[in-house]
Amino acid sequence: MDSLAAYPRVSAVGWRLVIAGAALWGAIQLLPSHHIATIGLLLIVAFLALADLCVSLTRQPVLQARPTTTDDAREAEHLRALLDAVATALFVLDAQGRIVRCNRAARRMAGAMVSRLEDVAALDPRTISILQALPAGARRLVRAKDGRNLLVWCGSFTAPGAAPQRLLSLQWVAGELDAVEIEAWHAMTRVLTHEMMNALAPIVSLTESLAALPDHPPQTARALATIERRATHLLGFVERYRQLGDLPRPVPEAFDLSVLVTDVAQSTMSLEDIGIRLDLSLPTEPARIIADPELLERALANLLQNAADAVRGQPSPRITIELTTEKTETILRVRDNGPGIPVDRIDEVFVPFFTTKEGGSGIGLSLSRQIAAAHHATLMAVQSDEGACFELRIPAADGEPSAH
Ligand code: ADP
Repeated sequence: MDSLAAYPRVSAVGWRLVIAGAALWGAIQLLPSHHIATIGLLLIVAFLALADLCVSLTRQPVLQARPTTTDDAREAEHLRALLDAVATALFVLDAQGRIVRCNRAARRMAGAMVSRLEDVAALDPRTISILQALPAGARRLVRAKDGRNLLVWCGSFTAPGAAPQRLLSLQWVAGELDAVEIEAWHAMTRVLTHEMMNALAPIVSLTESLAALPDHPPQTARALATIERRATHLLGFVERYRQLGDLPRPVPEAFDLSVLVTDVAQSTMSLEDIGIRLDLSLPTEPARIIADPELLERALANLLQNAADAVRGQPSPRITIELTTEKTETILRVRDNGPGIPVDRIDEVFVPFFTTKEGGSGIGLSLSRQIAAAHHATLMAVQSDEGACFELRIPAADGEPSAH
């Protein structure tokens, strides 16, 4: 069906045809009466009407001049589907800060249809006030309520005939940031291990050779023994450092994560023997994922070991492993009722060699996060009512549902 806008042009064509036709008909009717002047006049009118019609038709096609109402609706539907397909949350705000438009990712982040940023479920008041004050063109990294990072961009635009509006785009970036950070750590690890190994190896061997020489005064012997001990300790440290840079490439396969969780819980530690209660909360359906089971087992064992260390000495030590499957990801949470992690340390605990334990290496969490990043997954310490909670989010392969 054509749009109403096309009718004036159609009728203009029609009227020209009617005038030309009427003039010609009149001229033919008058032929027997020999009214030459009138016939001539009518022929001129018919000619002018037809000439004008030709000019008009050659200047612009008539019937397809403008998109029709249906075309407009189809175009709008297409654009809406396109915006809904974008994984970044998009909010359009009017001058009063009301949400006037948002795409599917934004609705998911909001948790429901909301009309104000204050009602977006994933954001806390501090982040919301940052977003509200963000000037057009600004980019900023903010933290969502669950501790994940969001990269925010603020734009401004004016639609024809409307007041200026702000566009906020919010993108989850945890995995990408982890990957960048890990790559930076790798680069540093490679340089440091190389330099330290080069320096330490001759120190250890020279000290050994010197110590083997006869007739040392006791002071020299003690000094040599100390140098050798310290240098050997440092070599051990560098060796552990190397582990971080030597994570094998994942060999992915499809498997049920519930089975792996159950196996790890039963076999890696006998928690019950040391008085720690371990609860498992698994989905009823298989939690199918595509990942490297050995690497995931290593990450989970690290988290369990940390949880066990944290609850030791608590009145009723308890660890819970929760596995849930969602449409786009599988989420594994390891909770404990230990002392928890102070908010200002929540990122620090993933820094290689950060440890608060006597004899701790500080590589467990860093290695586990590296394993997560190698699977395009994220590992974070999230806020918890009691103790600590570590959350591993594994995306479904190719956007396919991870469960069933
Ligand atoms: P390590 O266990 O050798 O210290 P990790 O990298 O595994 O190394 O952990 C780093 C630090 O993170 C720990 O020393 C501890 O301070 C903190 N941490 C890790 N897990 C927990 C937990 N479940 N509860 C409290 N603190 C934790």
